[in-house]
Amino acid sequence: MTVRVPAKVNLQLSVGPLRDDGYHDLVNVFHAVSLFDELTAVPAAGLTVTVQTAPGSRVAVDGVPTDDGNLAARAARLVAGRLGVEPAVALRIRKAIPVAGGMAGGSADAAAALLACARLWDSPDEPLLSRDDLLELGAELGSDVPFALIGGTAIGTGRGEQLTPALARGTFHWVFATADGGLSTPAVYAECDRLRDAQGEETPWPEVSEELMTALATGDAKALGAALTNDLQAPALLLRPSLRRTLDAGRESGAIGALVSGSGPTCAFLAESVEHAAELAAILDVEGVAESVVRATGPAPGATVI
Ligand code: ATP
Repeated sequence: MTVRVPAKVNLQLSVGPLRDDGYHDLVNVFHAVSLFDELTAVPAAGLTVTVQTAPGSRVAVDGVPTDDGNLAARAARLVAGRLGVEPAVALRIRKAIPVAGGMAGGSADAAAALLACARLWDSPDEPLLSRDDLLELGAELGSDVPFALIGGTAIGTGRGEQLTPALARGTFHWVFATADGGLSTPAVYAECDRLRDAQGEETPWPEVSEELMTALATGDAKALGAALTNDLQAPALLLRPSLRRTLDAGRESGAIGALVSGSGPTCAFLAESVEHAAELAAILDVEGVAESVVRATGPAPGATVI
């Protein structure tokens, strides 16, 4: 059973006040892009995980765990537990989504494993697990996992796991500049809290951006570029100052939108057209401000059996 699953970029990431449980309330506009990991699940004697770089990709996979630290393995165990079967499966992951890059690659693999294992073990005629059950299991694994199942463009609230699809017209053209080495998501949130403490201002309640919703609904790339926001960008830049150069290079090369993707360090640039994206990618490559430069379009479909 092979499942293809997309990366995401956050078009809006508004981080609310710190809650008592240590999480933040978020407004998170997720947008799936055509940069895909592929997970294959094959019946086996026990649970194993192998991780490879996808053909044609340059993603470094050495940091990815192959034990129960891998979110895909945890997803497989969760499905097995629900269905009352042994988690006897060999999972092979081919990664094209940068690792610890702020594009939710681990969550994507978890979503792929949920779908693949459910298809492998559940009854095709009378399935025990519905799509909603898979979304619920996804939310148990991590707040970005349910979105990887549905894909497209969606507004996440709560910890990001309560999803409402957003109306989006047309196709947007993106260029992603990956960085050498990842950034830890908890470390970026901690830096965000530290910055806010130092500033001493009250953190506003996060609200969905009207400008962003209008830009998406009308398919207006320029307006979308102007409406992109990410509250984790400032802390990510403090932890990784070299990203400033990457963002500046993209803006100076004509990107109509530029921001750090999620908790970084991948930088996302919006282009006006497919030709413009190719031009922008070539310039960023030559300027040497990224480890690698990849193009993708959005919105892309969520986890899909292929
Ligand atoms: P997010 O955008 O959701 O914050 P991210 O894209 O920054 O996440 P991931 O690639 O999901 O980061 O990986 C974060 C860490 O999770 C990795 O450093 C790795 O140790 C661990 N991990 C667990 N499972 C996976 C997986 N299948 N692929 C990649 N990393 C994984």
